[in-house]
Amino acid sequence: MKALRLHEPKLLKVDEIDEPKINDDEVLIKVRYAGICGTDLHVYRGAMRDRVKYPAIPGHEFSGIIAKVGSKITWLSEGDEVVANPVVSCGRCVACVGGRPNVCVNFKILGVDIPGVFAEYVKVRGDKVYRIPKGLSLRNAALVEPFSVAVHSCRKAGIEPGDVVVVIGQGPIGLCVTQVAKHYGAYKVIALEVIENRLELARRLGADEVINPLRVDPVKAVKELTDGVGADRVIETSGHPVALGQALGMLRPAGRVVVVGLCFEEVKFYSYPIVYKEAEIVGSRVYIDEFPRTLNLMSKGYLNPEPLITHEMSLEEGIKAFKILDEKLEDAIKILLKP
Ligand SMILES: [Zn+2]
Ligand SMILES: [Zn+2]
Repeated sequence: MKALRLHEPKLLKVDEIDEPKINDDEVLIKVRYAGICGTDLHVYRGAMRDRVKYPAIPGHEFSGIIAKVGSKITWLSEGDEVVANPVVSCGRCVACVGGRPNVCVNFKILGVDIPGVFAEYVKVRGDKVYRIPKGLSLRNAALVEPFSVAVHSCRKAGIEPGDVVVVIGQGPIGLCVTQVAKHYGAYKVIALEVIENRLELARRLGADEVINPLRVDPVKAVKELTDGVGADRVIETSGHPVALGQALGMLRPAGRVVVVGLCFEEVKFYSYPIVYKEAEIVGSRVYIDEFPRTLNLMSKGYLNPEPLITHEMSLEEGIKAFKILDEKLEDAIKILLKP
């Protein structure tokens, strides 16, 4: 089969390799659509070197069709249109036993620790696979994974009907969070982003107010939009080093900040608002049981992935796709590869 493999940082090649051989408890999936995610870009640039073994196949967001079924898998059949949770957890560590496999001590994910989905076929454990419900296309289903990240973060935020929710960053995840927050009952979603056309898109996808922090002070702007009180919930998806300080500044007393964006730099911010406001700061990593919930919401049309998909490219063009994202040659939001 053909696979897009990373041989060293920024060196991708389309290689001919053997199809994966499945165990009794696994299925082989023919990948139809595979989205490139920020994590893939980190892998491409050479981050997570302790986890990635070259030559590596990146990619963990995908939809596909079952090609082979292991003998122990009774609930799936060849030809089923499916998505799969790409996280592999151990089931026995303190986090797993406590019902939090998304922060498993022995956490593994497709495309980083194990071969990913930028290939014609991928194998996954049968219990990680979900059938795509009627009303959801294979193409749109490729975005179930990032939308599940968004659903998890909104559940961590504990959004209640009538809340004002600020979403910092309107990249692929932020644009998903904006939509999900609205569906979870936010009466006002305020979207923050520095790229103007992404703010336009955020508005189209349900944001009630948009703020460009390059033009106005975002803390002041949020205060003005909330009669001086601040936002009930702030969901930080940008990973920008100033975002956490801003989030605390625009939060109402007894509010909650959820951190989704990854920042690999040291962050400096005033910590006194945490005490003054009794602010809660909560992390949100991937998802736990959100895939079925997200599939329900997407198949009913409550969430709209369509405008997020800016490019559709072949596996061979994947090399160019990574270049576009890495060097920001075009304003790509979600690039789907079609192996
Ligand atoms: Zn992802
Ligand atoms: Zn575990």
